[in-house]
Amino acid sequence: MYFELSEEQLQVRESLRRAMASILTPDYLRKIDQEGTYPYEAYDAWVQLGLTGCGIPTQYGGTGGSIEDLALISEALAYFSYDVSTAFMVSLFTGMTLLKCGRSEQKAALLPQLVNGEIRMSVCISEPEAGSDVGAIKTRAVKAGNKWVLNGQKLWVTAAGARKSMLQIYARTDANTSAKKGMSVFLVPNDTPGIECRKLEMLGRRAAGSYEIFITDVRVPETAILGEVNRGWEYLLAGLQAERALTSSGYAGAAQKVVDIAFTYASERKQFGKKLGEFQAIAHMLADMQTEVDAARLLAYRAAGRLSRGLDASREVSMAKLFGSETYIKVANQGMQILGAYGYSLETEMQRHFRDARSTTIGAGSSQMQRNTIATMMGL
Ligand SMILES: Cc1cc2nc3c(=O)[nH]c(=O)nc-3n(C[C@H](O)[C@H](O)[C@H](O)COP(=O)(O)OP(=O)(O)OC[C@H]3O[C@@H](n4cnc5c(N)ncnc54)[C@H](O)[C@@H]3O)c2cc1C
Repeated sequence: MYFELSEEQLQVRESLRRAMASILTPDYLRKIDQEGTYPYEAYDAWVQLGLTGCGIPTQYGGTGGSIEDLALISEALAYFSYDVSTAFMVSLFTGMTLLKCGRSEQKAALLPQLVNGEIRMSVCISEPEAGSDVGAIKTRAVKAGNKWVLNGQKLWVTAAGARKSMLQIYARTDANTSAKKGMSVFLVPNDTPGIECRKLEMLGRRAAGSYEIFITDVRVPETAILGEVNRGWEYLLAGLQAERALTSSGYAGAAQKVVDIAFTYASERKQFGKKLGEFQAIAHMLADMQTEVDAARLLAYRAAGRLSRGLDASREVSMAKLFGSETYIKVANQGMQILGAYGYSLETEMQRHFRDARSTTIGAGSSQMQRNTIATMMGL
């Protein structure tokens, strides 16, 4: 058993961190968080660096690579900002669903555009009455001649309003059966007539942004159906594991940044004539934080590793998602305590982690749903 990254993987992570340091500066991150603006400049840089081709086969203009490689990118980007990393991850893991489930002509048309930055992707599942219970979605698509007409509403969709977003909209296509048998996925550009995206005011994750989408008589051609009609449930499950594995490595990257900030502060700040880190209460808190972040990272790597090898990873992905998200929240809370009032100030970075972290046990399947999955996999 060997739990270390290879020399090459370490280099990828480090060179990415170095390349991003000049773009994802503290001032830039503070500005887009406060103003709630999408990180277009960062996305353009990812395209230039070839990151948007990772995981996409060379026949579609990508650089190949696996979920494991994407997990390392996600970890490295989230080290700067979990929020900003989601702009990258959402687009890529939604692209993975297209790669896995799309028809060959769809992949040939859209994947090169994803790689070269002409489009990005968002996944539209949740609705006002359908959160954890995806089967309750009400958005529907009805066939009219050679078109499909979509009506409904989506909620909380990450980055849906960003320029050139291609939405993957989950809709009921057969009202006479369950969502498992009667749901499909539609590929719809976000500037299609009848699509209205409204950015929502959220506590965190303010740059990538969360959107409410109103879908009114949106007419799309038959070719807009991802893969085959009525196979949406299968495609949903195929996409969720990659989504959760990548967000989990993002949690580890962001949580590590929290520990590093708190460690640096505790090594410099003096009270009662001593550095904070010399007080055992603070040193032990930091020791616990680093231990838990290491455990979160290992769980995330295990999940990504299994997916990269084509193995089922439902249990491992849920464990990584559950533990990683709860660890990020926990260390952001402890980090704020270590920084005292500085941590609580909107002028420092810790509060952004505190806010961004809080979303992670809710989005991409809540902690309760992950526990349900793990318990089921245990045979309960
Ligand atoms: C930052 C963020 C980004 C998101 N991005 C997207 C996106 O890009 N696309 C998209 O489609 N959606 C997105 N979502 C929505 C997300 O998928 C849902 O928030 C999530 O599935 C939970 O649904 P809900 O919020 O409606 O909560 P509910 O399902 O209403 O649950 C409320 C509470 O009840 C608990 N609960 C529900 N059912 C059970 C059960 N059976 N057992 C135990 N507890 C239960 C939940 O865990 C939760 O604590 C995002 C959400 C957030 C916060």
